[in-house]
Amino acid sequence: MHLNPYGEDAVRLAADLANRRPADAGELSDRCRGAGLTVEGPVTPDDLDRVGAALDAWEKVVDATADHERAALVNAMLASAAAYPRMTNHVGTGWHLHYRDEDQPLGAVVSSLISVGTALHLAGRGMHRLGRCAVTECTTIFADTSRTGRQRYCSQRCANRDAVRRHRARGVPSTG
Ligand SMILES: [Zn+2]
Ligand SMILES: [Zn+2]
Repeated sequence: MHLNPYGEDAVRLAADLANRRPADAGELSDRCRGAGLTVEGPVTPDDLDRVGAALDAWEKVVDATADHERAALVNAMLASAAAYPRMTNHVGTGWHLHYRDEDQPLGAVVSSLISVGTALHLAGRGMHRLGRCAVTECTTIFADTSRTGRQRYCSQRCANRDAVRRHRARGVPSTG
């Protein structure tokens, strides 16, 4: 699998897993495969724990309000999860970069992918392009890969919901 080198696929996977945490090792495996990861070897509860810890750290990155704080948290994740990058053609479908040693369990693979992917995404597109939905009762995390970089909601549904609410708050009868 060759994830998007600008980190987009990795932050999407992180957001997906953080928004709805996998219940067991089997679900973790299925969802990583669904995101295009090559899953080698058995996936165990240890992998689930490792990914859970990475997602806890990642949510702190999401909720960081200052750029330097956000960068420091990503750097801490990189230090614990990633090794030096190396080129590999392990699936035989093309040479690509890995950010870890060969033959690591899925938990280690996902933690390094999340940290490197987030670093690439923020450095490449902008430090602010990670956040939670602006609808107060919606805590869904999104990675902003829009052209303008001004995404505020997790979905069109939440954007509409907020528009209707603001409309009502102005005392104008809503048609929606
Ligand atoms: Zn690979
Ligand atoms: Zn939302």
